[in-house]
Amino acid sequence: MNTQRPKLNAERMARLVEISRVLNATTNLDHLLYRIITEAADLTNAEAASILLLDPKTQQLHFKASSNEVPPELANMTVSLDSSIAGAILTENKPMYIQDVSKDPRWNQNVDNTIAFRTRSILGVPMHNVAQAPVGVLEALNKKGGGDFSIQDFETLSILADIAGVAVEQARLFNELQQANAELNELDQLKTDFIAIASHELRTPLSVILGYVSFLRDEAGPEMTAQFDNVLQAAVHLRALIQDMLNLRYVDAGTAALTRQKVDLVSLVQEMNLERDETAVAKNQTVHVTLPDQELLVLVDQDMMEVIIGNLLNNAVKFSPKDGRIEVKVQRQGREAWFRIKDNGVGIPEDQLERIFKRFYQVESPLRRQHEGMGLGLSIAKELVELHGGRIWAESSNREGSEFIIALRLELPPTGLL
Ligand code: ADP
Repeated sequence: MNTQRPKLNAERMARLVEISRVLNATTNLDHLLYRIITEAADLTNAEAASILLLDPKTQQLHFKASSNEVPPELANMTVSLDSSIAGAILTENKPMYIQDVSKDPRWNQNVDNTIAFRTRSILGVPMHNVAQAPVGVLEALNKKGGGDFSIQDFETLSILADIAGVAVEQARLFNELQQANAELNELDQLKTDFIAIASHELRTPLSVILGYVSFLRDEAGPEMTAQFDNVLQAAVHLRALIQDMLNLRYVDAGTAALTRQKVDLVSLVQEMNLERDETAVAKNQTVHVTLPDQELLVLVDQDMMEVIIGNLLNNAVKFSPKDGRIEVKVQRQGREAWFRIKDNGVGIPEDQLERIFKRFYQVESPLRRQHEGMGLGLSIAKELVELHGGRIWAESSNREGSEFIIALRLELPPTGLL
């Protein structure tokens, strides 16, 4: 065949450009293959077209899509590289035109038998990936009306094969990515299940330890009190860590775990007695709470609100110095209720203000940490706030402490219905 590149007419070029656009946007491999053979048959005026892809692992060709009339799932057979026409096109990496397949010893009758089609002639071209390596073969079968394929048909098929090779590779990568993503999700679920089971199992023996230590502390003489206090403190700390892990299960259960009701945020904060928080008292910190005179009704799960506020207070206490000051404020802001908690602690670098809400993220490097914790409190707070349809964010400037703000939609009486 004359290999000098012929000119294609403008209409055909425009068609190929349009096909290229469509193929590049198709990520479903089966749809893509079917589209390619349909276009190949149509553009070359062939009775049918077929596509064979090289399996990178087995290095065999797979017959992926067949004639226009035969659905692709009917033919998915393997074709050997060294005893087939397609195999020769791929290994020699060049186009071939077999005008009468019955005279070619490499012709394999099996495919015809499987799809009930009689092949007379094959115009085949190799398909290449972006790196120009052959990845498959595109074939046009039997020129309609019994004539010969033209040089334009050959050129059209070659261009289509190049577009198809890249599109197929893209679709494969996309599928691999989707699969990797699904595996990651599965692993993430396993991790979540593990955390839920482990934290649940740890809670029971820990309650026993806490119970007995408190009892022994009261029974033992004053000379042992300090030692028992240390054990007690460590066990209480452990309980807080386990509670954090347990709280994850609320988050993972999503809105299903929420029991929302109209709650006055002002009374809720008042009843939490944040001023008397034991750890703040132990660090001689002052927690100052400012509440408005009016009720601020919000639709929330009260237990979860307490978890959220508790997590923010724990952080404020943990990241503020001894004798520090923590300001809590509840206020109405337009159609929202805002809960703000501000400390005079270590502050948060501006570029980390978003990241601290990610699971297990901590500003301090895990190996050089001075503060205890697992990096879960804020992610739980954020996810729970968002389950309530609210927002949470942090502000911190010049490392002069941090402020966390929660915004929740107010439950307001309907207006304008007079
Ligand atoms: P943990 O406190 O267990 O480390 P969190 O998810 O509650 O986990 O917080 C993540 C990180 O955000 C903390 O490790 C800390 O670096 C930063 N952070 C949270 N709250 C404050 C705060 N009030 N002041 C300074 N840094 C904070």
